[in-house]
Amino acid sequence: MHDNLTKIVATIGPAVENKLEEFILSGVNVVRFNFKHNSVRWHQETIKKVQDIIKKTKKTVGILIDLQGPEVRIKMQGVDEIEVEKGEMLGLGDWVYRENVKGFNIDHSQIIKSLENNITVLADDGNFVFKLRRKGDKVYLESYSAGTLKNNKTINIPDSNFKLPTLEERDYEGIRLAKEFNIQYIAMSFVRRAHDVKKMRSVLKKEGVMSKIISKIEAKAALSKMDEIIDFSDGIMVARGDMGVEIPVEKVPYYQKLIIEKCLHKGKPVITATQMLQSMINNPFPTRAEVSDVATAVYEFTDAVMLSGETASGKYPLRSIHVMRKTVSFNEKRIKRDVKSELRFSFSDKESVLVEGAFDLFNNLRKNNEQIAGFLVFTQTGRTAKLLSRYRPIVPIFVFAPDDVVSSSMVLSYGVKPFTFPLIAKEKEVVKDDLNKAVSILRDRNFIEKGDSLIVLHGDYWAKEGRTSTIRVIEV
Ligand code: PEP
Repeated sequence: MHDNLTKIVATIGPAVENKLEEFILSGVNVVRFNFKHNSVRWHQETIKKVQDIIKKTKKTVGILIDLQGPEVRIKMQGVDEIEVEKGEMLGLGDWVYRENVKGFNIDHSQIIKSLENNITVLADDGNFVFKLRRKGDKVYLESYSAGTLKNNKTINIPDSNFKLPTLEERDYEGIRLAKEFNIQYIAMSFVRRAHDVKKMRSVLKKEGVMSKIISKIEAKAALSKMDEIIDFSDGIMVARGDMGVEIPVEKVPYYQKLIIEKCLHKGKPVITATQMLQSMINNPFPTRAEVSDVATAVYEFTDAVMLSGETASGKYPLRSIHVMRKTVSFNEKRIKRDVKSELRFSFSDKESVLVEGAFDLFNNLRKNNEQIAGFLVFTQTGRTAKLLSRYRPIVPIFVFAPDDVVSSSMVLSYGVKPFTFPLIAKEKEVVKDDLNKAVSILRDRNFIEKGDSLIVLHGDYWAKEGRTSTIRVIEV
């Protein structure tokens, strides 16, 4: 059994396509489908296969569909690449083809007219840097880089506030699959403000999709709107790849730490993503710096760490998961910082006070050398579990929820091991026997054994939201 409390998100792709069962059994908590790659049909067929294996192996593994979102890409005509030299002026827009000028157009070319003079434009993940120059009614890009620039590469324009649709055609296909397969999480790329998240929420509501929304913070514009984005999202991804193009790379660790801290305060799960074990795409061993990067995210109290190319297209996908799991599992048990006294969470209601009380009890019992094997939390919405998870206790939080939608929406949260327990779906007074039934499930599945102690949190009645009222210690 894997004992990591910090969750692992791994991106699926050709590297694991032929070993899906090993992939699911390797300790991943959430499988990420990246809609930037592969056809919609591939995603549909592979989601089906993954869900069949999850069912067969009885693993608690969630799925995240990562939508491509509004992207600007290079659209060359008649060529697949151009050679670019430093200091060269390239035309930008469809006029370059009419007037036979060296340059290229972009998709969403309507934005060009709103771009300000002298702003920076980056291409191909920031490998090419240009300054936008207006001359009369023409727009040019003055190159600060040299090399072969390929068609279809992405364009980043960090300092401009141009308008793009929140969702593109392909994103709607992803939403359709989320509905078809009851997917737990949908990630939104290039969120810039709360409005984007609200728009997504209304689309999901209209389509009857239950997935939780994970906003990827990567656009420069999102950094000044971080609080409102976190408030309206169900979770956050620190998407360091694009963030490192949108802002100078030395600022990325600062924002990573800040975003994680804000998510802790707001009780929202946060994923730290991209290039965590990058060298393992080609090598069987990671660099020490990469391992340290994974551990640092753990010491900063991330809920989850993520693998992208390492598992999607790398040579050592299963080894990458193994290294990541070992790294989080060793380091998370050795954190000396105390989240509670450092962050001083504010209490929005009685439930949050009670949850802190349960965590204090856990700490005090441990100081008295009384071992606690875990928490047992009964929740209608998942809120109690998420409130407790943010204290980062170093034992599992076994969470019993009335249905699959609630239980599976917690797989990303640190320490949470969710179970569906339909017994609590109907309104009725809580009796000790109900708790015993949950404990039997944990014993049968070897999560706990006779003699273990658990701290239990529940209300007086099942099926009533926000009514957690009781903390008790039970011996199994
Ligand atoms: C990122 O940019 O870090 C990221 C996770 O997004 P994507 O993999 O879609 O580029």
